[in-house]
Amino acid sequence: MRSTKTGYQTRLDDRIVITGAGGFIGGALARHFHGRGFTRICAIDRKPLRDWYQRVEGVECLSMDLSEKENAIRAVDGAVEVYNFAADMGGMGFIERFRVECLRSILINTHLIEAAWMAGARRYFFSSSACAYNTGLQKDSNVRALKESDAYPAMAERGYGWEKLVSEIFCQEYWAERGLETHIARFHNIYGPLGTWFGGREKAPAAICRKVIEAKDSGDLSIGIWGGGSQTRSFCFIDDCVAGIDKIMHCDQLIATPVNLGSSELISIDNLVTMVEQIAGVKLRRSYDLTAPKGVAGRNSDNTFIREVLGWEPATPLRIGMERTYAWIERQYAERKAGRRVIEDSMRASVTRPDKAA
Ligand code: NAD
Repeated sequence: MRSTKTGYQTRLDDRIVITGAGGFIGGALARHFHGRGFTRICAIDRKPLRDWYQRVEGVECLSMDLSEKENAIRAVDGAVEVYNFAADMGGMGFIERFRVECLRSILINTHLIEAAWMAGARRYFFSSSACAYNTGLQKDSNVRALKESDAYPAMAERGYGWEKLVSEIFCQEYWAERGLETHIARFHNIYGPLGTWFGGREKAPAAICRKVIEAKDSGDLSIGIWGGGSQTRSFCFIDDCVAGIDKIMHCDQLIATPVNLGSSELISIDNLVTMVEQIAGVKLRRSYDLTAPKGVAGRNSDNTFIREVLGWEPATPLRIGMERTYAWIERQYAERKAGRRVIEDSMRASVTRPDKAA
């Protein structure tokens, strides 16, 4: 049980609705809340159940498209807390190529937040992104870390970033005008086991792990890198992300107030490749594709604000998180090659991903 100044104490039998739960972060959060003892978790995703990255026993799993208003209304019926992770998204390869699909995710949040308010939900969480930040501030790989106020004046990432920024504004106005308690985290490159690792939507950490594994397996000891390799990023491990979401959602100082949820450990893509080579025990010849999607030159998370309000920030060292991610992808790769589906503990991780980018 936890309380906020708005007076409501979450109970373990409250209905918690998690959307996009057939994907990476939503699935991990369903597992987290189940582990904490919540008994009425409802996980929802557009994908058919067999394609969910993980399904947690004891969690109700529904397949429906939340860009449809009627489904959004049905989804949040009786919900006390709603966590929205449903979005058409992927790494740079996806969001630079499918801007319209990214923008259309606005339908999901628009219907869901209205439905949550109508249904009398107590709290609403929106998964925003570092792509909401002004791209003009990210033109140098020696980037100054982005603090929350850097989203304005607005010049977000085309498509995906603008959708996030406008949905943030929905969250802020539903609180200001209608009193729905909303919470907004700007995620910075979340990675880890049970994330997307092939098919066109994967992000750099998973893509690099997979390429290194493929090189080792094929004996062709080379790797193609998107961009010049000097672009910098920070990467946040999934366990930190999930812990942070729980803290942010239950913090009064963070009502309708966007906050960074990311690591402040900056690394260049070239050095990330070196790290994965070391984990894999291999050295590869590198080639650089300067025409490939590479995103902004540099981006890091300024964690001053989250430290101030929560006394906490993501702390898993990148090397530790990457070792765990590499080991997981290596196992998936072997299973996929052997033509098997992967079943781990009570989690079912499908190796087939629906992929519009392929
Ligand atoms: P993901 O692609 O693994 O999960 C998103 C899920 O949403 C998918 O399973 C997809 O099927 C589902 N979905 C899409 N459209 C839907 C619809 N109309 N109705 C129902 N479900 C639908 O992505 P993720 O990495 O878990 O990201 C979760 C959220 O966090 C997204 O909103 C994403 O934009 C945001 N985010 C993620 C990162 C990251 O690094 N992973 C960074 C910034 C923001």
